[in-house]
Amino acid sequence: MNPFSYARASDPADAVFHGAASGSQYLGGGTNLVDLMRETIERPSALVDVTGLSDRIEERPDGCLHIGAAVRNTAMAEHPLVRSRYPLLTSAIVAGASPQIRNMATVGGNLLQRTRCAYFYDTEGARCNKRQPGRGCDAREGFNRMHAILGSSSSCVAVHPSDLCVALMALDPTVHTLSSQGQREIPFADLHRLPGDRPDIETMLEPGELITGLSLSPLPVALRSGYRKVRDRSSYAFALVSVAAALDVEDGQIRDVRLALGGVAHKPWRATKAEALLRGSSADGKAFAAAAEAELADAVPLRDNGFKIELARRTIVAVLTDLAGEIA
Ligand code: SF4
Repeated sequence: MNPFSYARASDPADAVFHGAASGSQYLGGGTNLVDLMRETIERPSALVDVTGLSDRIEERPDGCLHIGAAVRNTAMAEHPLVRSRYPLLTSAIVAGASPQIRNMATVGGNLLQRTRCAYFYDTEGARCNKRQPGRGCDAREGFNRMHAILGSSSSCVAVHPSDLCVALMALDPTVHTLSSQGQREIPFADLHRLPGDRPDIETMLEPGELITGLSLSPLPVALRSGYRKVRDRSSYAFALVSVAAALDVEDGQIRDVRLALGGVAHKPWRATKAEALLRGSSADGKAFAAAAEAELADAVPLRDNGFKIELARRTIVAVLTDLAGEIA
């Protein structure tokens, strides 16, 4: 690990002041960043600890639920308003990592965690465009069972590792940031990037821009929602495929639906094609299967991950069928 300085930010402005220095990085729970530093993938010259900033979850006068970036994942999962209004968030958080990691990890850090592509972590021998732009991608022709089937590029086929982000993608909250340029609000769907020819640039954040929190709008459809993660073992494993869904049905017709996929792309994947087909249609297995088919029509498998297409189809249908069954 390279030497670095450490400063604990007293407030967001103080964090941004320190974070603006070249080589600085913000430190949340450190559950991903410390690993990356140990492997010398990340080499910050200064860490700005932001865990002392907003760790509150509060309902605002406009009805939005504001979640501070320093809220720990466990605290978010257990909060009564999160559990009652957005049950898929609680399901997604408890599906991730281990209790110890969830106790440490912050919401802001969860949004910015980096891919777990094994070649990305193999600094000794593997070529990786995300670590070294222009170097090549050993995953494309290598062992790529865990990799992307949607939205990938010739430069990178990695997937986003977060469970929470998949559930958030279905709810599309606003991300609040602060930088030396002032405050900014970013729709969650725009925060993460597809790889294109610059997989090293993973978000639309500017250098030194700090995530300060998230705002979730009141969303009736989210009251009936869930998250299913399919993985190789029942805990402490990343998703092969995951599905976050919310469904509102009246008299057998779908009034509103939200659907997002994890484990399939470089960013959490909002299933907009499926949603468009489902709105106004019957809430039955035939409609769910047609929507899943449409969403995955553009999927491009790699050598080892063709199974993900069928797995994603079946998981979408299963999650929607379960939600529809709860309503019936
Ligand atoms: Fe690197 Fe992306 Fe290729 Fe993995 S898939 S080796 S992260 S460029």
